[in-house]
Amino acid sequence: MKSTKRNILILFLALMTYVLASCGVNAEQVSNTSQETSNTSDKNSGLIVYFLDVGQADCTLIQLPNGEEVLIDAGNYGDGSYIKNYLENLNVDDIEYFILTHPHEDHIGSAKEIINNFTVKKIYMPDVLASSNLYESTMLAIENKDIETIFAKPGLKIIDSPGLKLELLSPKSMYYSELNEYSAVARLEYDNTSFLFTGDAESVSELEMLGGGFNLDSDVLKVGHHGGRTSSSIDFLKAVTPEYSIISCGEDNSYGHPHIETLNRLSDIGSDIYRTDELGTIVAVSNGKDISITSDEVMEIPLAPLEILNTPPIPDSSEVKETPVISETNYVGNKNSLVFHKTDCSSVADMKESNKVFFTIRQNAVDQGYTPCGRCNP
Ligand SMILES: [Zn+2]
Ligand SMILES: [Zn+2]
Repeated sequence: MKSTKRNILILFLALMTYVLASCGVNAEQVSNTSQETSNTSDKNSGLIVYFLDVGQADCTLIQLPNGEEVLIDAGNYGDGSYIKNYLENLNVDDIEYFILTHPHEDHIGSAKEIINNFTVKKIYMPDVLASSNLYESTMLAIENKDIETIFAKPGLKIIDSPGLKLELLSPKSMYYSELNEYSAVARLEYDNTSFLFTGDAESVSELEMLGGGFNLDSDVLKVGHHGGRTSSSIDFLKAVTPEYSIISCGEDNSYGHPHIETLNRLSDIGSDIYRTDELGTIVAVSNGKDISITSDEVMEIPLAPLEILNTPPIPDSSEVKETPVISETNYVGNKNSLVFHKTDCSSVADMKESNKVFFTIRQNAVDQGYTPCGRCNP
C-alpha cells in the first residue's frame, strides 16, 4: 500500500516546501526543491501535526513552533523504516518528547527503532507493565539509551510557556480492567488553536477527564481507539467539540474500525472527519489562529481551505485524470488509494463517486500509477 503512495509523497514534499516556506520554516527542512526561496522575517514557524499513515495503529509527529518535536506512539512492529524515513525527510534529529500512550503493539510497535535511530530526550508513558516481548525489548532500549522516563498523570505539564502548552490529562486511576484506559492523553495549545490526542482511551478514562476539571475543548481531536465504539462517548465529544476529527486506522481492518456509532456521534456534533485509511497521512497546520488540514494523498482536492497559507501551486493533474472519450468503462480507480478495480468489484460499490476515476484500457490505469486490486485482480 505504501509503495503506491510514494509518488504522491514526492508531490507532497513539494507542497510542504511551499507551505512551510510561506509560514516561515526554512524550505530546506523538507526538501531541496528550489520552488520557493523567499525567507520571511517572521521567525514564528507555526505548528505542524502529521498523523502518519501507519495502517491499523497510531503515530503522530508534532513539529512545535519553538523547533522542538513531539512524537506520540510509533505504529506497529514493522513500521519502523517507514516512520524513520518520514522523520528523516523532515530533517527530524532530536525528539524532545516521546509519548508512548500505552504498551499495545499498535502504539509501541516501532518505538525501539525510533529510540535507536533518533536522539530521544524524554519519554512519557503510563505506569503499567505489559507482558509482551515487544514491551520488554522496548523498555530495554530505553534503559540502554538512558532516557529519562516520566510516568504520565493528569495535570502533568510537559510544556508550559506563553502561547504554547502541552499537558497530560490521564491516566487518573492506578488500575483499569482495559490496557487502553491507561492511555496517556495529551492536550496541546498553540495560541488560539488546540489539539487533543487520546491514544486508545475509552469511556472510563473519558469520564475521569470530564470530572477532572480540564479544559477539553479542542479544535482537532485524534479520535480515541481508532474510532472504536467504546471511545468517543457523547458527553466527552460535547466537551471537546472538535471542528476536525482524525481517525487513524487501517484499510479493511479486522476490527471494523471506525465503528459506525462513532462516526455518527462525530457527525452529530458537526465535526469534519478525516481518516488515514482513506487519505493516507493527514497533516494539520496551525498558525496560532487557524488550522488547515491536508493530506499527502489528495493533492488536487484540498480538504480544508489552504488560503491562509497562500494557495500552493496545484500540480498539473491533467495527466492523472482520465476523461473517457469512449463511454465504455472497464476499470474504476480510486483517486485516494490509487488502486483500480474491475467495475463489478465490491470495492467499487463502496467507493465515493468523487473518488472514482474511469479507465477503458487497463494499461492507462497502470501508466497513471494505479495498482490492481488484490481481490478482483483486474
Ligand atoms: Zn490502538
Ligand atoms: Zn490499545
